[in-house]
Amino acid sequence: MTFASLSLSAPLLRAVEAQGYACPTPIQVAAIPAILQGRDVWASAKTGSGKTAAFVLPMLQILGEGRRGVGQRVRALIVVPTRELAMQIGEVVRRFSRAMPAPLKTCVVVGGVSKNPQRMDLRGGADLVIATPGRLLDLAADNALRLDDLELLVLDEADQLLSLGFSDELARLLAMLPRRQNLLFSATFPEDVCALASRILDAPVRIEADPAETLRSGVITQRVIEVDTAKRTRLLRHLLEVHGWSQALVFVSSRHAAEHVADKVKRAGIEAAALHGDLSQGARTKALADFKSKQTRLLIATDVAARGIDVPQLPAVINYDLPRSSVDYVHRVGRTGRAGESGTAISFVTADSAAHFRLIEKRHHLSLERERLPGFEPSEVSAESASPSPLDAVENAPLAPLDVVENAPPAPLDVAGGVKGRRKSKKDKLREAAARAAAVKS
Ligand code: AMP
Repeated sequence: MTFASLSLSAPLLRAVEAQGYACPTPIQVAAIPAILQGRDVWASAKTGSGKTAAFVLPMLQILGEGRRGVGQRVRALIVVPTRELAMQIGEVVRRFSRAMPAPLKTCVVVGGVSKNPQRMDLRGGADLVIATPGRLLDLAADNALRLDDLELLVLDEADQLLSLGFSDELARLLAMLPRRQNLLFSATFPEDVCALASRILDAPVRIEADPAETLRSGVITQRVIEVDTAKRTRLLRHLLEVHGWSQALVFVSSRHAAEHVADKVKRAGIEAAALHGDLSQGARTKALADFKSKQTRLLIATDVAARGIDVPQLPAVINYDLPRSSVDYVHRVGRTGRAGESGTAISFVTADSAAHFRLIEKRHHLSLERERLPGFEPSEVSAESASPSPLDAVENAPLAPLDVVENAPPAPLDVAGGVKGRRKSKKDKLREAAARAAAVKS
């Protein structure tokens, strides 16, 4: 199969070639022709499968052939759950659209940065807007953009978009849109995603690839090392030394841990940065950009970096803290071994997290050997019966938005949108203030 056989235009074929893509990935083979025919698509795909190009290429072709945006009109919209993913997709779009005879106007609209440049950027409309939901609604309320002529909508990482905190915003957004072509991408299909799909999709083409296939394909070597909690940073440094990885993405469970571990490894002379939701957007963007351009060797991140983020040739992912849910495990591990490369994912398992990891394995039908490294043999006694795995509670609850998840221990979510017993996120506080203001007014 070649890209030429997918009915892509000559300029896009040249752009694909310039990217060094020899042939389309399975999701591209399935999605590109369906999207070009104007069909709605409902797809799942394993991480690193080339999903972005699968929707960006046909979108650019459709938009290139149609009438350009005028006024404040937006023709196509890609909605994603994190700012980093929005910016990354913006980059992919820019790379491909440069090759087109008349490049399309693309705006990235995300929170955490000043609204004004985005408002200016949207003047005169846009062919394509890539956005996180909150800022998009803000700008729509300010009349900075018009969505009533929208031709094409992409909901990427729909399961996360539909989680607590985004579902209201999504409902408000959908209520503003006219009839249009819809593309829905989701790693998993919980009930709320299925309900959304049946509400918005019209006779969709279903493309199913098991996102967890990555775990069983052998492309990523998964290792599990048993270690005491207090020895994990030393083990991390030891692994870096022994394997000589050019880079590693290290996942931790809280913002505090990200800073703490980053500080410790930096003190040991390793170029490292932390990435989490407490940083300013400028600092988040810089941390990721430095990592992608290979200026930092280690990125110590919360799950803000788990979804969709593409760091080419990343040799290793380390679960310093285990993920809360088995779905997050797939996303984290999938940051390595992308686009046909190989990679290593190592999970540190402590006495306290042993039961939790066994459940993650069970969910993915994995059975991984436990390793003990000389000098790092654990001495902690398992407290399994005292601390049962939180996986059941977590996975039966809707996913929480990242700013809530980042500060949460593995605990059940409460229906009000926060995590029981934890401090409220900025977003929760803003929502509560808005509700109080509305109550005072009425
Ligand atoms: P994605 O799943 O969209 O995040 O893409 C993962 C990686 O695969 C990115 O680095 C893309 O540039 C790369 N990629 C996408 N499509 C292809 C292709 N057809 N051939 C080779 N690499 C690709």
